Amino acid sequence: MKIGIIGTGYVGLPTGVGFSELGNTVVCTDKIKEKIDDLKSGKLTIYEDGLYDLFIKNVQNGRLSFTTNMRKAVSDADIVFLAVGTPPHPLTYEADLKYIYAAAVELADYLTDYTVIAVKSTVPVGTGDNIEQLIRNKNPAARFDVISVPEFLREGFAIHDFFNPDRVVIGTNSQKALNIIKKLYLPFADKTKMLYVTRRSSETIKYASNAFLAMKIHYINEMADFCEKAGADVREVAAGMGLDARIGNRFLNAGLGFGGSCFPKDTMAMAYMARAVGAPIELIETTISGNKKRKQKMANRILEAIADIKQAKIAIWGLAFKDGTDDCRQSPAIEVIEELLKHNANITAFDPKAMGTACQILGNKVSYADDMYQAAKDADVLVILTEWKQFSAADLEMLSQLMKQQKILDFRNMLNAKEAIKAGFEYQCIGRCFANNQKEK
Ligand code: NAD
Repeated sequence: MKIGIIGTGYVGLPTGVGFSELGNTVVCTDKIKEKIDDLKSGKLTIYEDGLYDLFIKNVQNGRLSFTTNMRKAVSDADIVFLAVGTPPHPLTYEADLKYIYAAAVELADYLTDYTVIAVKSTVPVGTGDNIEQLIRNKNPAARFDVISVPEFLREGFAIHDFFNPDRVVIGTNSQKALNIIKKLYLPFADKTKMLYVTRRSSETIKYASNAFLAMKIHYINEMADFCEKAGADVREVAAGMGLDARIGNRFLNAGLGFGGSCFPKDTMAMAYMARAVGAPIELIETTISGNKKRKQKMANRILEAIADIKQAKIAIWGLAFKDGTDDCRQSPAIEVIEELLKHNANITAFDPKAMGTACQILGNKVSYADDMYQAAKDADVLVILTEWKQFSAADLEMLSQLMKQQKILDFRNMLNAKEAIKAGFEYQCIGRCFANNQKEK
């Protein structure tokens, strides 16, 4: 099939690469010329495990191409995916739909034969109706259907999740559109649960899912606070909870709060939508405010662990909002660092993939190290903020020798506590206490 992708970011690019790998001809467009220039010259614009090889392979075999000219992505396509950003509105925090509406108006003129417009961006309930209206107003003769195909991929696992989705949700009342999109998703039909619902239900499923996962994270974080006070171990508690199939073991890692480009904005947008229709969801409101406070609380824990913030050197491991990605949007790590910088903290940071994206946000307000040990050299405290696997394999003896003071705040529960204590560290983590090395209560 012929596919157009509008927006080649964290969702659009893996989606385009994935559908080309499945044998479709895919044209991706973006309004940022530099992104398209990079992609045309064989340079990836985001980091995702496994993306590069498939990208190169499909560009070379001619099934995947890039353009700034939207007409080329739309005019021949059977299906056009909208994968542009829907960031929070700066004032109301509802989803800001200006990019998706602008893209819809722009593509309207390029529609030739019947086309399915598939909305992959996360959009509030009713947005499909508005997109349909905007396209009709601009091009009354156009033949098309707007359907909702929300994206559930996890950054860092985008390629894995593209080929192995938990479920595919398709929201439409049009049988014609359904037949076409079913054909595209045929390679998934045997191994994946396919759910066909109305467009409005589909739009809601995405927000309801993300808000639920965010609540789960916030719940285990609050449970971690309880465990610290009560002398229980949140990892053991989470393991026990996770064995219950009704609960499930994912999203039960206590840490420094959720972040990234989705959960913070999607919880705020869901809360706004719920208030707007007169059915506020207090669980989500509490999750949002609690998650915000958590980052502050973590920063305070670092400040409390340091005698003189202006004299101390703080080593930070991890900048990305989670492992496996270079994405620093709404990264809890960045938010904690920004809080520390208000106190003139002297920070040296390292992240395996996100140094470039972090530098765009933090600039020269922190120093950047070439590797994790260099970051820790002469540090008074080491703080782990992102759960990159390589941190858990740290050579603790070497680390102990490198650092000025043997103090670790492990906010991702990455290290083996016993080993860290044995290596002479004063060790704090999340939701666990250690008899011989306990944080003062
Ligand atoms: P992104 O910011 O990485 O990419 C969006 C791209 O769209 C940008 O490159 C931008 O230049 C481009 N764009 C905007 N307007 C355009 C236009 N008129 N024409 C062409 N290109 C245009 O965003 P993302 O992280 O890929 O997210 C896209 C959508 O998918 C959002 O609604 C998001 O909530 C949703 N989503 C994201 C994820 C994720 O993990 N990032 C997961 C599921 C759903």
